[in-house]
Amino acid sequence: MAATRKTQIIKVIGATITIVLTAGTPVGMYYGGISWFGVGFFLVTGYFCMLTQEAFYHRYFAHQSFKTSRTFQFIMGILAELAPVRGPIWWAANHRDHHKYTDTERDPHTPTKGWWQSYMGWVYTDAYIAHNYKNAADLTRYKELRIIDKLFWVPMLVSFILCYWLGSHLEQTRPELGTNGLQLLVFGGFMRVLYPIHIMAWINYFTHSTYYNWGYRNFDSPDTSRNVWFLGILGAGVGWHNNHHKHGRYASTRVMWWEIDASAALIWVLEKCGIVWNVRWIPESYREEARAYRALVAAHGEPEPRIGVGPSEGRRPQTTGSTSVSEEASLTSAATPEERLAS
Ligand SMILES: [Zn+2]
Ligand SMILES: [Zn+2]
Repeated sequence: MAATRKTQIIKVIGATITIVLTAGTPVGMYYGGISWFGVGFFLVTGYFCMLTQEAFYHRYFAHQSFKTSRTFQFIMGILAELAPVRGPIWWAANHRDHHKYTDTERDPHTPTKGWWQSYMGWVYTDAYIAHNYKNAADLTRYKELRIIDKLFWVPMLVSFILCYWLGSHLEQTRPELGTNGLQLLVFGGFMRVLYPIHIMAWINYFTHSTYYNWGYRNFDSPDTSRNVWFLGILGAGVGWHNNHHKHGRYASTRVMWWEIDASAALIWVLEKCGIVWNVRWIPESYREEARAYRALVAAHGEPEPRIGVGPSEGRRPQTTGSTSVSEEASLTSAATPEERLAS
């Protein structure tokens, strides 16, 4: 797709934000200093933004794993835009393609396209910048979402101003905290935004990488997805990626007891408060399926992942490209894990 003026502008905005935040962090630390208050402020606000990315952008806007009011839908969009890659509709539309075409040429950030494309390059690729949103009609019907989707950088910019103001205020009123405007702009602003953006980029690469092959699988999902424990914790649940890929519509990624899912906890609280409803929680049969697969793997070893075939949510046969991955793979890999391990 030829680069249009619009995609070029978005690329410049995205690259400028990334460069300013990345280069501004060490410079700002040098001039603004470091304090325990600043570090604590980063940890709290950084994880909060990770939660908004995972619980709101991912599980709500992309996967509709719960329902809520139009007002709270808008609030979720604004909160997630405190640390945005782009707006909620753009994020959801591209992520739905990731599930529909996982590991194939049409997957926006498959590691098979190389480290950089998987990590962050896809964000600067014309075809993904100019997504037609045809798969997100449920979101584009809301005018307020279309507006904040275009102005995705505004809440972040406002939050930077507030961080600077708060730091300057505390420098005057609570000097014992050792903070100041520049310091809080870096720790509560720049680093807070960079944290979820880089964690999501790690997810794109490391939970689908057949080169590193980190982690484990609970399900024989027709893709390369794997559960990586530290990305499960740092990523507010998104790192239990194989659990998620098997059935993306669930509001939780926690299948085994140790798979801590902070986003599910947030959604649970919101449900108890009556703010969200019709939450798609994981049924017990899903866990039984995982236990059966884990027992099989323990006995026979892990089968090769099937790519592009089988019963995955939203999956459609790949229809573009010279050789259809799904057609070829379906002849050899559509068997059950028992059948493939026995062969
Ligand atoms: Zn994935
Ligand atoms: Zn997903």
